[in-house]
Amino acid sequence: SLDSTDSVISTGSTGNTGGSSRPFRVVLLGARGVGKSAIASIFAGAADSMDSDECELYGDEVCEQTITVDGEKATATLVDNWDSEDQCIQTGDAYLLVYSITDRSSFLQASELRISLRQRRPAHHTPIILVGNKCDLVRRREVSVTEGRACAAVFDCKFIETSAAMQHNVWPAFHGIVQQLRLRRDTKEN
Ligand code: GDP
Ligand code: MG
Repeated sequence: SLDSTDSVISTGSTGNTGGSSRPFRVVLLGARGVGKSAIASIFAGAADSMDSDECELYGDEVCEQTITVDGEKATATLVDNWDSEDQCIQTGDAYLLVYSITDRSSFLQASELRISLRQRRPAHHTPIILVGNKCDLVRRREVSVTEGRACAAVFDCKFIETSAAMQHNVWPAFHGIVQQLRLRRDTKEN
Protein backbone atom coordinates (compact mmCIF):
# COMPACT_ATOMS: atom_id res chain seq x y z
CA SER A 1 0.00 0.00 0.00
CA LEU A 2 0.97 3.62 -0.23
CA ASP A 3 2.72 5.12 2.73
CA SER A 4 1.87 8.46 4.32
CA THR A 5 -1.88 8.06 4.52
CA ASP A 6 -2.78 8.97 8.08
CA SER A 7 -4.78 11.87 6.76
CA VAL A 8 -8.37 12.66 7.52
CA ILE A 9 -11.24 12.79 5.08
CA SER A 10 -13.62 15.65 5.44
CA THR A 11 -16.32 16.89 3.14
CA GLY A 12 -17.23 20.11 4.87
CA SER A 13 -18.76 22.94 2.91
CA THR A 14 -15.90 25.36 3.49
CA GLY A 15 -13.65 23.67 1.03
CA ASN A 16 -11.23 25.45 -1.22
CA THR A 17 -8.87 24.25 -3.84
CA GLY A 18 -5.87 24.23 -1.60
CA GLY A 19 -4.31 27.14 -3.37
CA SER A 20 -5.07 26.00 -6.89
CA SER A 21 -7.40 27.92 -9.13
CA ARG A 22 -9.47 24.96 -10.21
CA PRO A 23 -10.12 21.43 -8.99
CA PHE A 24 -7.63 18.72 -9.76
CA ARG A 25 -8.92 16.51 -12.54
CA VAL A 26 -8.31 12.85 -11.75
CA VAL A 27 -9.16 10.34 -14.46
CA LEU A 28 -9.96 6.67 -13.96
CA LEU A 29 -8.58 4.56 -16.78
CA GLY A 30 -8.76 0.82 -17.24
CA ALA A 31 -10.42 -2.10 -18.95
CA ARG A 32 -14.12 -2.72 -18.66
CA GLY A 33 -15.17 -4.49 -15.50
CA VAL A 34 -12.11 -3.78 -13.38
CA GLY A 35 -14.10 -1.69 -10.89
CA LYS A 36 -13.72 1.91 -12.03
CA SER A 37 -17.34 2.76 -11.33
CA ALA A 38 -17.16 1.01 -7.98
CA ILE A 39 -14.14 3.12 -7.06
CA ALA A 40 -15.88 6.28 -8.31
CA SER A 41 -18.94 5.56 -6.21
CA ILE A 42 -16.77 5.35 -3.08
CA PHE A 43 -15.40 8.76 -3.93
CA ALA A 44 -18.92 10.06 -4.58
CA GLY A 45 -20.27 8.51 -1.42
CA ALA A 46 -18.01 10.59 0.76
CA ALA A 47 -20.43 13.47 0.52
CA ASP A 48 -22.57 13.94 3.56
CA SER A 49 -25.97 12.62 2.55
CA MET A 50 -27.54 15.60 4.36
CA ASP A 51 -25.65 17.93 2.09
CA SER A 52 -25.80 16.26 -1.28
CA ASP A 53 -24.79 19.42 -3.14
CA GLU A 54 -21.26 18.63 -2.06
CA CYS A 55 -21.00 15.96 -4.70
CA GLU A 56 -22.21 16.63 -8.16
CA LEU A 57 -22.73 13.59 -10.29
CA TYR A 58 -23.19 14.08 -13.99
CA GLY A 59 -24.56 10.83 -15.28
CA ASP A 60 -22.22 8.91 -12.99
CA GLU A 61 -19.23 10.11 -14.97
CA VAL A 62 -17.85 13.00 -13.00
CA CYS A 63 -17.86 13.75 -9.34
CA GLU A 64 -16.36 16.71 -7.55
CA GLN A 65 -15.34 16.34 -3.94
CA THR A 66 -13.40 18.34 -1.40
CA ILE A 67 -11.21 16.18 0.78
CA THR A 68 -8.66 16.91 3.43
CA VAL A 69 -5.25 15.43 2.80
CA ASP A 70 -2.43 16.07 5.25
CA GLY A 71 -4.50 18.75 6.93
CA GLU A 72 -5.04 20.73 3.76
CA LYS A 73 -8.22 20.80 1.69
CA ALA A 74 -8.15 19.83 -1.93
CA THR A 75 -10.94 19.76 -4.44
CA ALA A 76 -10.76 16.98 -6.96
CA THR A 77 -12.94 16.08 -9.87
CA LEU A 78 -12.98 12.35 -10.49
CA VAL A 79 -13.74 11.31 -14.06
CA ASP A 80 -15.02 7.78 -14.55
CA ASN A 81 -13.95 7.06 -18.06
CA TRP A 82 -16.38 4.51 -19.39
CA ASP A 83 -15.76 4.88 -23.10
CA SER A 84 -14.28 8.19 -24.24
CA GLU A 85 -10.76 7.13 -23.44
CA ASP A 86 -9.08 9.35 -26.02
CA GLN A 87 -10.58 12.48 -24.60
CA CYS A 88 -9.96 11.45 -21.01
CA ILE A 89 -6.33 10.68 -21.63
CA GLN A 90 -5.65 14.23 -22.68
CA THR A 91 -7.55 16.11 -20.04
CA GLY A 92 -6.39 14.64 -16.76
CA ASP A 93 -4.07 16.21 -14.22
CA ALA A 94 -3.58 12.76 -12.75
CA TYR A 95 -4.57 9.18 -13.48
CA LEU A 96 -5.67 6.10 -11.62
CA LEU A 97 -4.72 3.26 -13.93
CA VAL A 98 -6.94 0.41 -12.81
CA TYR A 99 -6.75 -3.31 -13.50
CA SER A 100 -8.30 -6.29 -11.75
CA ILE A 101 -5.97 -8.69 -9.98
CA THR A 102 -8.35 -11.43 -11.20
CA ASP A 103 -7.93 -10.55 -14.86
CA ARG A 104 -4.52 -10.69 -16.47
CA SER A 105 -5.74 -9.15 -19.71
CA SER A 106 -6.80 -6.05 -17.77
CA PHE A 107 -3.25 -5.88 -16.38
CA LEU A 108 -1.85 -5.98 -19.91
CA GLN A 109 -4.34 -3.30 -20.93
CA ALA A 110 -3.14 -1.12 -18.07
CA SER A 111 0.37 -1.39 -19.50
CA GLU A 112 -0.89 -0.31 -22.89
CA LEU A 113 -2.69 2.62 -21.33
CA ARG A 114 0.51 3.59 -19.56
CA ILE A 115 2.26 3.67 -22.91
CA SER A 116 -0.51 5.80 -24.43
CA LEU A 117 -0.26 8.15 -21.49
CA ARG A 118 3.45 8.52 -21.99
CA GLN A 119 2.89 9.38 -25.64
CA ARG A 120 -0.06 11.67 -25.23
CA ARG A 121 0.79 13.21 -21.86
CA PRO A 122 4.54 13.48 -22.15
CA ALA A 123 4.84 15.99 -19.29
CA HIS A 124 7.18 14.70 -16.66
CA HIS A 125 5.73 13.71 -13.33
CA THR A 126 2.11 13.46 -14.42
CA PRO A 127 0.86 11.71 -11.29
CA ILE A 128 -0.18 8.14 -12.02
CA ILE A 129 -1.05 5.34 -9.65
CA LEU A 130 -1.33 1.78 -10.91
CA VAL A 131 -4.29 0.32 -9.03
CA GLY A 132 -4.75 -3.44 -8.69
CA ASN A 133 -8.41 -3.70 -7.71
CA LYS A 134 -10.47 -6.65 -6.41
CA CYS A 135 -7.76 -7.77 -4.01
CA ASP A 136 -10.52 -9.34 -1.90
CA LEU A 137 -10.86 -12.10 -4.52
CA VAL A 138 -7.76 -13.94 -3.35
CA ARG A 139 -8.59 -17.29 -4.87
CA ARG A 140 -9.15 -15.79 -8.29
CA ARG A 141 -5.90 -13.85 -8.32
CA GLU A 142 -4.10 -13.91 -11.69
CA VAL A 143 -1.66 -11.05 -11.11
CA SER A 144 0.66 -11.18 -8.11
CA VAL A 145 1.52 -8.21 -5.92
CA THR A 146 5.12 -8.59 -7.05
CA GLU A 147 4.14 -8.30 -10.69
CA GLY A 148 2.01 -5.25 -10.02
CA ARG A 149 4.80 -3.56 -8.12
CA ALA A 150 7.38 -4.45 -10.76
CA CYS A 151 5.16 -3.06 -13.50
CA ALA A 152 4.71 0.19 -11.60
CA ALA A 153 8.48 0.45 -11.16
CA VAL A 154 9.05 -0.01 -14.87
CA PHE A 155 6.35 2.51 -15.66
CA ASP A 156 7.63 4.95 -13.09
CA CYS A 157 4.42 5.28 -11.14
CA LYS A 158 3.09 4.40 -7.71
CA PHE A 159 1.29 1.16 -6.98
CA ILE A 160 -1.53 0.14 -4.69
CA GLU A 161 -3.89 -2.82 -4.40
CA THR A 162 -7.48 -2.00 -3.53
CA SER A 163 -10.80 -3.62 -2.96
CA ALA A 164 -13.70 -1.39 -3.86
CA ALA A 165 -16.01 -4.12 -2.59
CA MET A 166 -14.39 -4.08 0.86
CA GLN A 167 -13.68 -0.32 0.70
CA HIS A 168 -10.04 -1.20 1.26
CA ASN A 169 -7.25 1.21 0.24
CA VAL A 170 -9.47 3.27 -2.03
CA TRP A 171 -9.11 6.50 -0.02
CA PRO A 172 -5.36 6.04 0.33
CA ALA A 173 -5.24 5.92 -3.47
CA PHE A 174 -7.11 9.25 -3.75
CA HIS A 175 -4.95 10.78 -1.06
CA GLY A 176 -1.81 9.52 -2.76
CA ILE A 177 -2.80 11.19 -6.01
CA VAL A 178 -3.52 14.50 -4.26
CA GLN A 179 -0.13 14.31 -2.54
CA GLN A 180 1.57 13.74 -5.87
CA LEU A 181 -0.35 16.60 -7.48
CA ARG A 182 0.78 18.92 -4.71
CA LEU A 183 4.38 17.85 -5.02
CA ARG A 184 4.20 18.58 -8.70
CA ARG A 185 2.48 21.91 -8.19
CA ASP A 186 5.04 22.95 -5.58
CA THR A 187 7.91 21.91 -7.81
CA LYS A 188 6.47 23.97 -10.64
CA GLU A 189 5.99 27.04 -8.51
CA ASN A 190 9.42 27.01 -6.91
P1 GDP B 1 -15.96 -0.77 -14.55
O1 GDP B 1 -16.43 -1.35 -15.84
O2 GDP B 1 -14.47 -0.66 -14.53
O3 GDP B 1 -16.63 0.51 -14.19
O4 GDP B 1 -16.30 -1.84 -13.40
P2 GDP B 1 -17.49 -1.82 -12.34
O5 GDP B 1 -17.23 -0.82 -11.27
O6 GDP B 1 -18.77 -1.71 -13.06
O7 GDP B 1 -17.32 -3.25 -11.68
C1 GDP B 1 -17.48 -4.44 -12.45
C2 GDP B 1 -17.93 -5.56 -11.53
O8 GDP B 1 -16.89 -5.85 -10.58
C3 GDP B 1 -19.16 -5.22 -10.71
O9 GDP B 1 -19.95 -6.37 -10.61
C4 GDP B 1 -18.60 -4.83 -9.37
O10 GDP B 1 -19.51 -5.09 -8.33
C5 GDP B 1 -17.39 -5.73 -9.26
N1 GDP B 1 -16.32 -5.16 -8.43
C6 GDP B 1 -15.77 -3.92 -8.54
N2 GDP B 1 -14.80 -3.76 -7.63
C7 GDP B 1 -14.72 -4.92 -6.94
C8 GDP B 1 -13.87 -5.37 -5.87
O11 GDP B 1 -13.00 -4.67 -5.36
N3 GDP B 1 -14.07 -6.65 -5.44
C9 GDP B 1 -15.04 -7.45 -5.97
N4 GDP B 1 -15.16 -8.69 -5.47
N5 GDP B 1 -15.84 -7.06 -6.97
C10 GDP B 1 -15.69 -5.81 -7.45
MG1 MG C 1 -17.97 1.68 -15.24
